[in-house]
Amino acid sequence: MTAVLDQTCAPIARVSGCDLRVPLVQGGTRGYANFDYAASAPALTQVCDRVNELLPYYASVHRGAGYASRISTDCYENARNSVSRFLNCADDQVVVFTRNTTDSLNLLASCVPGDTVVLDIEHHANFLPWTRHGRRVVRAADTVDETIHRVVAELCAKPAALLAVTGASNVTGEVLPLRRLAEVAHQCGARILVDAAQLAPHRRIDLCDIGIDYLALSGHKLYAPFGSGVLVGRRDWLDAAEPYLAGGGAVRRVTTTEAEWACAPQRHEAGSPNVLGAAALAAACDALGSIDAEAAAAHERALTERLRDGLKSLAGVNFLRIWPDSADSVGILAFTVDGFAPGQVAAYLSAEYGIGVRDGRFCAHPLLARLGVDGAIRASIGLGTSAADVDRLIEALAALVTTGP
Ligand code: PLP
Repeated sequence: MTAVLDQTCAPIARVSGCDLRVPLVQGGTRGYANFDYAASAPALTQVCDRVNELLPYYASVHRGAGYASRISTDCYENARNSVSRFLNCADDQVVVFTRNTTDSLNLLASCVPGDTVVLDIEHHANFLPWTRHGRRVVRAADTVDETIHRVVAELCAKPAALLAVTGASNVTGEVLPLRRLAEVAHQCGARILVDAAQLAPHRRIDLCDIGIDYLALSGHKLYAPFGSGVLVGRRDWLDAAEPYLAGGGAVRRVTTTEAEWACAPQRHEAGSPNVLGAAALAAACDALGSIDAEAAAAHERALTERLRDGLKSLAGVNFLRIWPDSADSVGILAFTVDGFAPGQVAAYLSAEYGIGVRDGRFCAHPLLARLGVDGAIRASIGLGTSAADVDRLIEALAALVTTGP
């Protein structure tokens, strides 16, 4: 049954590019219907405003005594507080600014003092970095419960330092039972890392409450521009490891033969940092923190159900799912259309309807292989999505399957 939408079916927030018009193959232009939030989300207006406000104070942080430098330093350090507040970090957790989730996970991989256990459903960013550091892969089972049993069995069979899991699948949108996974990891003496690249834009995450030790996310998926991300996590491993990059800013004292490294977060932030990126990410955290989370979740659920119901009624549309029994998902749907290559469908949607989706294997080759497909189409929903966008996507696909290959 199609869920009831709010009165206006309007987007929850205003995002950059919402007035964008795109050329159509049949001539003329049409407003862009963005269904590619999972790749990168457009910036929230509060984020754009914050970046514009800070541009005049664009200066290098920390050791500069000049006015602009002091403003930039305050803004950079306050950005950590915003991220920490947004995620409700514990006292022993630090916020390290990185370039993106991939960077954060590679950084953590260089600090983990032992094996890491991962599932075979991960984005490559949460799969490949562990290869060099004792990666053990657990094959997800057909049900969530059985998958957790397998994780426990692996963690019990041989000690591991870390369980690294995604918060939500970047392919199917399915949400992992993080509380249960954190519990079993801790019971088995391991810590847990959550790749929150896809979960954080859709759900509030409380690190303390859930018991998450480490978390990685990307600014560009969280309604901020490219180039900033964070690794948040427990200080001891970060302080014990070699700096991720060697250079200025990560060090307290240097002689010609020795370096005395700083503690985290500075230890892993060598070089001039991306001050505007950090400020933009923080502005996104502040803005998302002030949105009514229940209303946003209800809106997203309604739009996702509307899209799923609409597509379900079309012959030849097949959804990808890891666990048919999993109830919880964010607004990401992956599907194939019989008789059409995913790239063909994506190109058609863009050229004829001004709709942006993603096609391919979504940097999750092991998952696509276990789902038995070479590629798929992914439609992802965000705060700027409207019911009209959803209806346009359904209409476009209905026209495609009716016409046939
Ligand atoms: N993890 C997940 C679940 C993702 O979806 C992505 C990107 O799509 C990444 C990690 C990598 O993010 P980034 O390219 O910003 O490093």
